[in-house]
Amino acid sequence: MANGYDYIIVGAGSAGCVLAYRLTEDAATRVLLLESGGPDSHPMIPVPKGFAKVMVDPAYMWPYLTEPEPGSNNVPESWGRGRTLGGSSAVNGMVYVRGQSSDFDALAAVTSADWSWQHIGAAYRALENHELGAAATRGDSGPLRISLPERREPVVEAAICAGVALGLERREDVNEPADGPRVGYAPRTIYRGRRQSAVTAFLAPARGRPNLTVMTGVTVDRLEFAGRRAVAVHAVQNGAALRLAAGEILLAGGTMSSPAILQRSGVGPAALLTALGIPVVHASEAVGAGVREHRGIVMQWRVRAGASQNGQLQGLGLAASAARYALTRGGPIAAGVYDAGAWVKTRVELTRPDVQILIAPYSISFTATSISVEPHAGINLCVYNLRPESTGTVAIRSRNPADVVRIEPHYGTAAADRDTMLAAIRYARRLVSAAPLADFIVEETRPGAQFQSDEQLLEAHRQMGYGNYHACGSCRMGSDEAAVVDPALRVRGTEGVRVVDTSIFPAMPSGNTNGPAMAAAWRAADLIRGAR
Ligand SMILES: Cc1cc2nc3c(=O)[nH]c(=O)nc-3n(C[C@H](O)[C@H](O)[C@H](O)COP(=O)(O)OP(=O)(O)OC[C@H]3O[C@@H](n4cnc5c(N)ncnc54)[C@H](O)[C@@H]3O)c2cc1C
Repeated sequence: MANGYDYIIVGAGSAGCVLAYRLTEDAATRVLLLESGGPDSHPMIPVPKGFAKVMVDPAYMWPYLTEPEPGSNNVPESWGRGRTLGGSSAVNGMVYVRGQSSDFDALAAVTSADWSWQHIGAAYRALENHELGAAATRGDSGPLRISLPERREPVVEAAICAGVALGLERREDVNEPADGPRVGYAPRTIYRGRRQSAVTAFLAPARGRPNLTVMTGVTVDRLEFAGRRAVAVHAVQNGAALRLAAGEILLAGGTMSSPAILQRSGVGPAALLTALGIPVVHASEAVGAGVREHRGIVMQWRVRAGASQNGQLQGLGLAASAARYALTRGGPIAAGVYDAGAWVKTRVELTRPDVQILIAPYSISFTATSISVEPHAGINLCVYNLRPESTGTVAIRSRNPADVVRIEPHYGTAAADRDTMLAAIRYARRLVSAAPLADFIVEETRPGAQFQSDEQLLEAHRQMGYGNYHACGSCRMGSDEAAVVDPALRVRGTEGVRVVDTSIFPAMPSGNTNGPAMAAAWRAADLIRGAR
């Protein structure tokens, strides 16, 4: 142990806060948690619909942008991430999806049995405090509060019934591990109208422990190696250089930052490091490669007047909703970004859903300069391929930690991804055309009925699609030597450093990624503690 710390955790996001919570359960373990951003003091962070203000505030976000590529219509796309205590869990849409049990069994097949659903299901059970109570892999007494929407909008209920009409199984808990096609209300990391970030759930309860030190405003530049052993981090705080040592360093900076720290430290593609004058500690082509993202499209329909929440989210209606929220912590301001979801198979031969459709009782104005709703009544469905095959890269541009990484998503380069998106968009149209949802619909407004052929729909996806802020894979875990981290998350070719965040997933979890980041960190803590 150096500087008195057993572990330095780099990044206080979804994974980093879980690690801090779990590792400091042992009073003899001393942990330093470093966060580049500041405290999570933005007044809109706890307010569920306040995400629209926080996720565009540069003081709380990493300004990641993709390179212009054909897959995104040659326009840079925001891959912003939270830069504050709580990381992206402080700015995200609060949809709580655990991924499919088969995702983790597939992960175990390329890593180790340590990552099977048996273990991850147990991790979820331990970390959750779910409104629906305990079940085989659902928890009722963990730190993370999960709830279901208390408002049941008729148009959302109609969408769920339309899913049933198309053959989907209605589930009270869409996260139940049976991986069949399903539809139901979407669980959220919200409790009594307040966001449950990784801080609320994990860091706040741990902060009183004397063995946990938290520093904010500290941006880690690189690791210092003695031979192959990482012994310290070099960081910058208010322009001043810091050197902080520990027995082991746990990188939890997220999919863009963890590979960047490794690359600046001399662990990464040899040609990249050499071009930037960085001495190579361990050449690894996989550091920053294998990046996957859920590039979806928000489809919208105009609905009958009064059938959506748009009127309650603008003008006088918004003022009334805000007053209601202030008085009761209820109403549309207390709701998450999506109220329901459908997980569907686009081909009969599939054994499990390959597409997620999230359903919201409002529609977004894509012409407004701030995030706001359309003037007329509308609904939106966010539609995406759950397990994209196209992979991209993340690479540092310089040795300067203040320079954000270069991101090349290479969307749609795998033909299978294009086919799945076409089927997904067409499925969403079938859902909206099915009774009883069809009775609410006036017309499709996005992309619009003029987009019909394969080429037109792919063009719509290129023009109107967006990354869902779920990117994974830049420090992939694997039992093969080429993987960045081994099945215990140790960085290959080095000692004393692990990666624990969304970057470790070699394939995307089938759903939103906050839950999987937390469950992976929970499981990682078992492995790290077991190794002591
Ligand atoms: C706008 C948005 C909406 C989303 N919506 C949802 C949703 O509804 N449901 C869902 O499940 N998922 C959602 N996600 C995705 C999910 O929140 C993330 O995948 C997950 O939080 C990532 O966890 P992580 O631990 O890998 O990284 P993060 O939570 O991003 O944490 C990384 C932390 O490391 C810090 N850091 C980075 N570099 C350094 C450095 N050099 N030095 C020190 N600290 C550093 C960062 O500031 C950050 O706090 C959303 C994400 C965003 C951004």
